[in-house]
Amino acid sequence: MFFTILPDERRVLEIVGQCAQEMDVPAYVVGGYVRDRLLGRPTKDIDIVCVGDGIKLAEAVAGRLSPRPKVAVYSRFGTAMLRADGIEYEFVGARRESYSPDSRKPEVELGTLEDDQNRRDFTINALAMSLSETDFGHIIDPFNGLEHLEHKIIKTPLDPGQTFSDDPLRMLRAIRFSNQLDFEIEPSTFKGIAKYKSRIHIISKERITGELEKILMTDKPSVGFKLLFDSGILRLIFPEMVALQGVEDRNGRGHKDNFYHTLEVLDNLCRRSDNIWLRWAAVLHDIAKPATKKFDQEAGGWTFHGHEWLGAKMVPKIFREMRLPLDGKMEFVQKMVLLHLRPISLTKEQVTDSAVRRLLFDAGPDIEDLMKLCESDITTKNPQKMRRYLEGYEYLKERMALVSQADRLRLWQPPITGEIIMQTFDIQPSREVGIIKTALREAILDGEIENNYEAAFQRMLEEGEKIGLVKKD
Ligand code: ATP
Ligand code: MG
Repeated sequence: MFFTILPDERRVLEIVGQCAQEMDVPAYVVGGYVRDRLLGRPTKDIDIVCVGDGIKLAEAVAGRLSPRPKVAVYSRFGTAMLRADGIEYEFVGARRESYSPDSRKPEVELGTLEDDQNRRDFTINALAMSLSETDFGHIIDPFNGLEHLEHKIIKTPLDPGQTFSDDPLRMLRAIRFSNQLDFEIEPSTFKGIAKYKSRIHIISKERITGELEKILMTDKPSVGFKLLFDSGILRLIFPEMVALQGVEDRNGRGHKDNFYHTLEVLDNLCRRSDNIWLRWAAVLHDIAKPATKKFDQEAGGWTFHGHEWLGAKMVPKIFREMRLPLDGKMEFVQKMVLLHLRPISLTKEQVTDSAVRRLLFDAGPDIEDLMKLCESDITTKNPQKMRRYLEGYEYLKERMALVSQADRLRLWQPPITGEIIMQTFDIQPSREVGIIKTALREAILDGEIENNYEAAFQRMLEEGEKIGLVKKD
């Protein structure tokens, strides 16, 4: 298989080869870099394995590079890292690993290149490239990784049961790589995931979420989520999402399968945005549908009243469980979930300006993201309907542009502050200040007065008078 090593990388790798020769410790590049070079993908880090002391080799290499890079040594792991031309070179001695059943942290001892390749997760990640002068660039491929690269196959180098129960994170990595690279997971490897899925409990939540986020950041995350679902692992790591799956039928009336609907929405959204928090919002937008589902006898159909509201309430618990941040990013996701039904209700022509203004006010600077989510939420297979719904949103966007008068409302700040109210009426912070502020905001949102200082000041005087306040001279 043909591949190119970029000139900057070659320069460093040749120096590694020379140093290794002088120190008599054969050195190889292994893992992701070799795979990505063969696939023509970009890489930021290069892993070098030597049969000997990786830290000493890193020091020697640093000494030959100019400018001389710093070597970061992690003596506890026996690894060292240096950076050259923006690329991280990680050095480690070849090792052999043995696992105990209740931990993913193996016992580590020095080993041969072969031992080191045996401990890799997939055949395509077990490729090694020689750095010695005599056969620089030669690929050592003990498990047919090259063939699997060509045929786009993810397969464990050893027995899948062994590989997965030793380190269950590899199950998620298999699915993530399959999604990222558009590779098939070889059947016995996939069976291994289904069989050993319950071992996932020894993996930390942070690491699991890390893999989920990598899946979420692919072009078509539905592929990864379907594999997670089909292998049974999704039920263990994200039960709320699995609860969306299934269709209940009553009197011949069904509802859509909200799991597959959510995945379609997510894929649609990924074509519109690579904001990971908006992607999470797509995953979670209908998360409360199972909990709010009812069959309405009179109307003869299924309802999910309040699922946007309950869904927003569920977000913090899910974020906490997944070790996702509980800050403004979570609040953004909550806001998207809470508001995801609002735009559709505003696509009718007889909607008032004030309803449009209220949406602008509630969504604030996130209105464009909200519209992307809503547009992604259209999953009808009927092209006419699709066009009509999208046109409805286009019309709404025009209305919003008119109403917001070139973004003024988006950064909406009432022109009268609490300070001004207190000064005008010569009062202290109090309930009255709040009453007047609210009244002003409502008057502006309802379009009763213009959003400017003069109009709001006049209205403030009137509102103050209503509750017995007098303007200070
Ligand atoms: P990416 O950087 O895109 O996540 P990668 O394959 O480089 O992909 P890394 O996590 O950087 O993944 O790991 C580098 C190499 O280390 C892998 O190619 C693989 O050979 C090995 N490796 C990483 N994690 C594991 C694991 N859990 N089990 C076995 N080998 C692993
Ligand atoms: Mg890597």
